[in-house]
Amino acid sequence: MADSILSPDCKSCAALCCVCLAFDKSDDFPIDKPNGEVCPQLSEGQTCKIYEERERQGYRGCMHFDCQGAGQRVTQEVFGGRNWRDNPKLLDPMTRAFVIMLKVHELLSLLQAASRLPLTDEEIDRYDGLLTDLNPADGWTEELLEEFEGTGTEKRVHAFLQSLRHHVA
Ligand code: SF4
Ligand code: SF4
Repeated sequence: MADSILSPDCKSCAALCCVCLAFDKSDDFPIDKPNGEVCPQLSEGQTCKIYEERERQGYRGCMHFDCQGAGQRVTQEVFGGRNWRDNPKLLDPMTRAFVIMLKVHELLSLLQAASRLPLTDEEIDRYDGLLTDLNPADGWTEELLEEFEGTGTEKRVHAFLQSLRHHVA
């Protein structure tokens, strides 16, 4: 798996983390914001108006967030580069897709770490199968993401990771 798939590419993303995720007023955020509501600090041009000032203005949570590449994947692969700014009806489906893609990319990241272990041939076969499940041949769609939870892939990834304990014992 190429490392780049797990790196955020904000220029190819519709600023999904600034819209789709909820904030709770806390040490990490100065306001409450539900998911699907645009952060008041996001400019019309989809950039953060306080990017260099986030810590001072209480938005520390943004500084620690890493979508692991889920944002641009939803924007480009699932929605063909479209943007909720141009079509607000996309906001709900993009939010739903982003939340599920965050999980998919978290699992990919765990598998990537596991791939550095000296896997046996049988383990490599299982790893390859899981990678295929997390990277559908024709790409992710809204429908495939909605079905993801029911596929059991997340459970299979965790069972696979647990089975690798003998490599680190
Ligand atoms: S969701 Fe990811 S790629 Fe998109 S703006 Fe946020 S960090 Fe960047
Ligand atoms: S403060 Fe800036 S980086 Fe954080 S969510 Fe708002 S617009 Fe995005």
